[in-house]
Amino acid sequence: MINLASDNVVGASKQVLEALIAANSGAEAAYGSDHYTAEAEAMLAEIFEHEVKVFLVATGTGANALALAALSPPWGAIFCHEESHVADDECGAPEMFTDGAKLIGLPGLNGKLTAGRLETAIARYPKGVVKAVQPAAVSISQVTESGTLYSLAEIAEIGEVARRHDLGFHLDGARFANALVSLGCTPADMTWKAGVDIVSFGATKNGCFACEAVIFFDPARAEHFGFRRKRSGHTVSKGRLLGAQMSAYLRNNHWLENARHANGMAERLAKGLGGLPGVRLPWPSQANEVFAVLPKATAKTLSDAGVRAAPWYELSISLPTNEKIGTNEVFWRFVTSFETAPDQIDQVIALARGA
Ligand SMILES: *Cc1c(COP(=O)(O)O)cnc(C)c1O
Repeated sequence: MINLASDNVVGASKQVLEALIAANSGAEAAYGSDHYTAEAEAMLAEIFEHEVKVFLVATGTGANALALAALSPPWGAIFCHEESHVADDECGAPEMFTDGAKLIGLPGLNGKLTAGRLETAIARYPKGVVKAVQPAAVSISQVTESGTLYSLAEIAEIGEVARRHDLGFHLDGARFANALVSLGCTPADMTWKAGVDIVSFGATKNGCFACEAVIFFDPARAEHFGFRRKRSGHTVSKGRLLGAQMSAYLRNNHWLENARHANGMAERLAKGLGGLPGVRLPWPSQANEVFAVLPKATAKTLSDAGVRAAPWYELSISLPTNEKIGTNEVFWRFVTSFETAPDQIDQVIALARGA
């Protein structure tokens, strides 16, 4: 079985697992006051070249929903891509933890919001008009749900609209490291230098068991976050287990190496699959995901051989307008991880070629 359905089908990396075993011995202060968590926070401040407030949580949904709650009142409007994780894959958690803010999904090709669309959408909700939700925040995903990337200029343009309209700017970085190594920029470039206020810094998919950081660049915005995290049930009592995961993840560039490996495997797969007759890759593969339209016969050959991928939304509004998935085709997402081996990718390509 070669499982490329997601990057969370694998366990934690060896380095993270060993750090957890080491952190298991002895007594430590509880609820995140341990030295592993302090170390993770210090490392993140250095990596982001900025003062940060860091809150570790166990899931990306928790990170996103609580981050958005820190940016929006219950009567707020939160702009996001129509097919974003916050809108489609979190079972209403952002709406619940904001006490009812409205997520406003906007269309955009390749899974991306544009500054222009955002500007137009904001105009529909005039400030001070009581019958309208009030523009409060914008949230983008980097890597996007289509496996694509915002350029630094595109993030900065959205940041500029957010600044002009006094919106908080949230970045869902479930695959932050994969985006970073592809763009070859610094974490600062991709976030606060482009106007981002809060990052959901993912670590689970790229090497941890269950650990994500909510990172604030303005401590004032984080003032009540400790209460939010606790009342949502996301304050882990043996907090050292989160701190140990995050500090091991960041140590010795482990996170960057994992992401580089995963991205390299996706590139290999994209090159191999993309060159086959009858196969189309409607979105550019820019990180560790490959979206492919395959003939049903090819898909069956892969399935029968034990290859797993995730069937994707065939009617996705992010697809190019001329892309129509035929009745004899499937639309699949392949995701590579730090554990994906080159020969697994080569096997998938060989099977598809044989079909
Ligand atoms: C995986 C993922 C998350 C986190 O999801 P959880 O399953 O709650 O950990 C958030 N955003 C995006 C874009 C993701 O792909």
